[in-house]
Amino acid sequence: MKNEWMHVEVERCMHCGACAGTCPENAIYLHEVLVEFNDSCTRCGRCVRLCPVGAITMEAKKK
Ligand code: SF4
Ligand code: SF4
Repeated sequence: MKNEWMHVEVERCMHCGACAGTCPENAIYLHEVLVEFNDSCTRCGRCVRLCPVGAITMEAKKK
């Protein structure tokens, strides 16, 4: 299932694959243009910190 809290700015993303490579949950999938995140994401923030172009944002957990 696609999650709703991770987002990628497609205009910035250069499809390097670093985010998918670092995710401990294998929650990131690279498609032709899109990067998608599934709901096994634990919001660890690694991909957000690692992305060389700062294209990934993570929404705060809703209470
Ligand atoms: S690390 Fe950033 S630039 Fe690279 S594929 Fe992921 S979102 Fe795109
Ligand atoms: S925040 Fe962590 S668990 Fe979620 S997609 Fe990024 S690297 Fe994977």
